[in-house]
Amino acid sequence: AKRGGRADYQFAMAAMNDASLERLQLESSLRHALDHDSLRLEYQPLVELATGRIVGIEALCRWDDPLRGAIPPNVFIPLAEESGMIEQLGGWVLQTAARQLQALHEAGHDNLFVAVNLSARQFQRGVVLAQVEDALVRSGIPPNKLELELTESVLLHDGEAVMSTLRQLKALGVKLSIDDFGTGYSSFAYLRRFKFDKIKIDQSFVRDLIDDPDNAAIVRGIISLALSLGLDVLAEGVETEAIAQRLRHLHCTFAQGYYFARPLRPEMLAERLGG
Ligand code: C2E
Ligand code: CA
Ligand code: CA
Ligand code: CA
Repeated sequence: AKRGGRADYQFAMAAMNDASLERLQLESSLRHALDHDSLRLEYQPLVELATGRIVGIEALCRWDDPLRGAIPPNVFIPLAEESGMIEQLGGWVLQTAARQLQALHEAGHDNLFVAVNLSARQFQRGVVLAQVEDALVRSGIPPNKLELELTESVLLHDGEAVMSTLRQLKALGVKLSIDDFGTGYSSFAYLRRFKFDKIKIDQSFVRDLIDDPDNAAIVRGIISLALSLGLDVLAEGVETEAIAQRLRHLHCTFAQGYYFARPLRPEMLAERLGG
């Protein structure tokens, strides 16, 4: 058949309509899940490398759609951001994570902290500050047991407003960490602009730590940078003992990854923590 003809055009339009229809349907399913409290959180252990002890947990949002099955956060978080649902979703995540941490504290794991991911959009109208305060008050967890993970995209937005929100968050006593460190264009610039508590080295560098000397050099550099700035440093995506071992040699403080534990449902986490 002739290319670019009428049939091709109709086919392209149909495909496009299918895609945008599917997107609209997904959006409305997500709204429904959010309104009916059917999202849930899993928690991935964060461990101290020297001892293997679980010191904290990262809350990771999960959506099991009744029709489509599990939808990954890399799909529904951007969808929530683009369709104005991220504030509500983010507020729900903060409340739920704080409440579930409080339950773990009551069960005797009272040194544990929870890390929650924040997206740039949650900063845009400044609502995040009130949401964090509310989660702290309602759950009763100590502020220093809540850590907020920010990516570079947060800091790329309007400088002064974001900085002011970060300072106010810090004044509440919560911890702030930089997520996916090394993947952005100006990872180093924001270390200068704000006093973070922790750097999380992106898993893309950690994964090839053993085989790729360049990645090894980058990881070594980030660890020594963090330590000399007095920051905690965590390596993400640790999948093997060999990588964990190498990170210990490099004096990396904390790690996270399938080698230690996958993200777990709250019941499984409680079991894993014991007591
Ligand atoms: P992230 O914050 O970088 O979270 C770490 C991701 O790496 C998680 O994927 C986790 O399951 C995965 N992971 C952990 N250990 C390993 C490992 O050893 N190997 C490999 N290959 N992967 C590992 P997940 O749960 O699919 O989340 C993807 C992203 O979605 C997160 O990346 C985060 O950016 C976003 N996200 C998840 N939950 C939330 C949320 O509640 N709010 C916001 N704003 N974003 C969220
Ligand atoms: Ca994270
Ligand atoms: Ca990350
Ligand atoms: Ca990531």
